[in-house]
Amino acid sequence: MIVVASANGAEALEVAWTVLEDGGSALDAVEAAARVVEDDPRDHSVGTGGYPNLLGQVELDASIMEGTTRRFGGVAALQGFRHPISVARAVMERLPHVLVVGAGAASLAAEIGAETAELLTPEAEAAWRDGLARSPAGLTGAVLAQVQALSTNPEHVAGTVDFLALDRDGHIASAVSTSGWAWKWPGRVGDSPIPGAGNYCDDRFGAAACTGFGELALRTQTARTVVNGLASGLDVAAAGRAALEDLFALGEPADRIVMNTVALDRNGNHAGLTTEPGARYAWRDESSGGVQLATRIVVRPDPA
Ligand code: ASP
Repeated sequence: MIVVASANGAEALEVAWTVLEDGGSALDAVEAAARVVEDDPRDHSVGTGGYPNLLGQVELDASIMEGTTRRFGGVAALQGFRHPISVARAVMERLPHVLVVGAGAASLAAEIGAETAELLTPEAEAAWRDGLARSPAGLTGAVLAQVQALSTNPEHVAGTVDFLALDRDGHIASAVSTSGWAWKWPGRVGDSPIPGAGNYCDDRFGAAACTGFGELALRTQTARTVVNGLASGLDVAAAGRAALEDLFALGEPADRIVMNTVALDRNGNHAGLTTEPGARYAWRDESSGGVQLATRIVVRPDPA
């Protein structure tokens, strides 16, 4: 049994671990942990306290996947609900669908009795006003300014929380929750709720989830690429490396390639990889005696 997370999920990993230790499923573990981060107003990339879109609305993307049958549930651009991850789980378990967005996702949330919340905190609202005030004129200019800022300050525009879990029965699950890019275009959907882009798992091989410049993970199916690497016999580090290296063939300037992935194989081996030196990830298993933070393997383009 093991649980793995992006670094901002470290505090919630103990919750996920307790679910597994008590005999719970990997699916329950990743959902429980994501709910903790969704409630943390200090994390400006997830749930309550998340940075809003251009119009000052907090739009949440989330997804959950279970690796036994590869069922998947995602919500995108969901407003006004406290736990998008649980609405995503309802998409997976209560509807014959994989992805529900916007007003439809909110209708489902209401239907299942999900708790509403004021997601825009005064602190996030102040940052939004300040961010727009410093952006070039026009709405598209404001979005483009975030792309420019990526390489210098990824934390400011990016975040997202990833959880992967392997339970005592050998089942794997993954969950991702995010408020997406700060000041994103309204209705913009990132990689986090899309199967294979920001989130993917398969009991036969392992799991991966991403944070970073979601549009790149959407274009290359980064999470699925990691799991494909595991399926082809690569170890977690090599599979993660291959997926990030693929991004450097997109023709984008190297300093715009901002991506992080956490990977877990079916035997409990794990790795974190990043294009940004210094980034970390978190994990917890039987032998670790608590949540551990580990440095991610850095992947940069080969010097030409
Ligand atoms: N990947 C997320 C998105 O593009 C943001 C992030 O991870 O920082 O919505």
